Amino acid sequence: MDAKRAHSELGKDPANHVPLTPVTFLERSATIWPNRVAVRHGRLAYTYREFEARCRRLASALARRGVGRGDTVAVMATNTPALLEAHYAIPALGAVLNALNTRLDARMIAFCLDHGEARVLITDPEFAPTIRAALGATQRRLLVVDIDDAEGPGGERLGELTYEALLNEGDPAFPWPGPLDEWDSLSLLYTSGTTGDPKGVVYHHRGAYLNALGNALAFRLDADSVYLWTLPMFHCNGWTYTWAVTAAGSTHVCLRRVEAARIFAAIREHRVTHMCGAPIVLNMLIHAPDDVKVRFDHRVDVATGGAAPPSAVIESMEAMGFRVTHLYGLTESYGPATLCAWQNEWDALPSTERAQRMARQGVAMPTLAHLQVGNSETAAALPRDGLTLGEVMLRGNTIMKGYFKNASATAAAFAGGWYRTGDLAVWHPDNYIEIKDRLKDIIITGGENVSSLEIEECLYRHPQIMEAAVVARLDPDWGETPCAFVTLKSGAKLEATDVIAWCRANLAHFKVPKTVVFGPLPKTVTGKIQKYMLRERARDLGD
Ligand code: ADP
Repeated sequence: MDAKRAHSELGKDPANHVPLTPVTFLERSATIWPNRVAVRHGRLAYTYREFEARCRRLASALARRGVGRGDTVAVMATNTPALLEAHYAIPALGAVLNALNTRLDARMIAFCLDHGEARVLITDPEFAPTIRAALGATQRRLLVVDIDDAEGPGGERLGELTYEALLNEGDPAFPWPGPLDEWDSLSLLYTSGTTGDPKGVVYHHRGAYLNALGNALAFRLDADSVYLWTLPMFHCNGWTYTWAVTAAGSTHVCLRRVEAARIFAAIREHRVTHMCGAPIVLNMLIHAPDDVKVRFDHRVDVATGGAAPPSAVIESMEAMGFRVTHLYGLTESYGPATLCAWQNEWDALPSTERAQRMARQGVAMPTLAHLQVGNSETAAALPRDGLTLGEVMLRGNTIMKGYFKNASATAAAFAGGWYRTGDLAVWHPDNYIEIKDRLKDIIITGGENVSSLEIEECLYRHPQIMEAAVVARLDPDWGETPCAFVTLKSGAKLEATDVIAWCRANLAHFKVPKTVVFGPLPKTVTGKIQKYMLRERARDLGD
């Protein structure tokens, strides 16, 4: 027999091929560290043995109530043990977890329940008014379960039973079946849908498994790590940290509200070592009152992404003793797809220069197969010259299966064999990408492309500016001009002319905002500034 044939005859066997699924991380950690704390929530602490038993109870109880392969279970909750447990129990049945964005209104929630065909809704009484209205608007008959969390603010109960009562129906040793295939759907996530209906992004077990391991590696998690839940679990399943933290045998510290005082208190009390958050969350920590800030003598790693972190924000976080990792990704890529991998030479750079390097979105995560900055029309790769602007394109096993019940949007997103992110970037000679804007956010003034991020970067460097966002404003002469929305630090006094003078001193003149508006910025629950609202405000400013 020749070698080629001999190789081709070696086949897949149950002994050498098992579907990849993040559910196995829990089984393994519960075997190795049964008595270590897996989950903290206020005064509660569950060991890995208890965490696994609770997940098995939930899976068993849902199975007894008829939930099986391919069924959708929706959860409306902040970062609580119930939502974390749902990340194991539901996929372990081959069912699909639909973690709902708690900021959505009743009409949107009803849309998600209908479109996702949810059979069960596990909901926190905190959201009872929205959920009551959503249940009134949906045609579906659902089993509704109320989370009875002593740490929560409480609220009206809408369901047939409580979450703890449901758990009591289940078997703590339930032998869950797991997925049949690693391509099976595990999670359904509706994107924010700023225009039109939200799209349902579908994840598979394989992608979740890989992305979680990639994150654990990139963010250096281990069994001594303590991870604070400052990023919503409903957002890309918490960038897959819901599984990564368990894979490493680390401790999850739940957090119902993202507030500076609670974050600093948790860092001190639980010796938190890792947390994630949008740049806005970092900015909140930087500008927290002095009596809220605590000094800590251990290392706290913070991963940031979801929006471009201004280098000034990175620099201030470092000055407070945090080590910053910059990640970039989208819901469609299971959260992080790239990271700004550290280079030892950067240690020696002055802090401003180092922060500028770190503000780039970087290189592919270890589990992403391919990354390129390409031509949107042809999908051809563009030169790595740090100048040519193109679209960020991703390819690999950590890209969504597609949009639920939306074949045309899926096909458009995957045109030419690349996932099209809609983000514009340059590719540097050292292979690091740097995002300049979203396709829809780029400002075209007098025929020149102006990156709103570049102007924001400049504004964040002003010592009296706390936050800034720049959008296009229609202009009869220039087509569009940059319009800056600025929030000042407390006690600061600045006029529009001061802001414009600062920009003129630091930017090419055609990039300088023509309009400056002061006030707070509208944000999403994940801390993203809602530029579409600012664009509307800019339009409403008139001439
Ligand atoms: P949505 O489109 O609902 O905001 P996502 O939360 O998936 O959905 O956001 C993904 C987008 O966020 C990306 O397309 C990109 O524009 C932006 N983004 C995420 N991370 C970064 C980053 N590190 N730097 C710049 N932009 C980022």
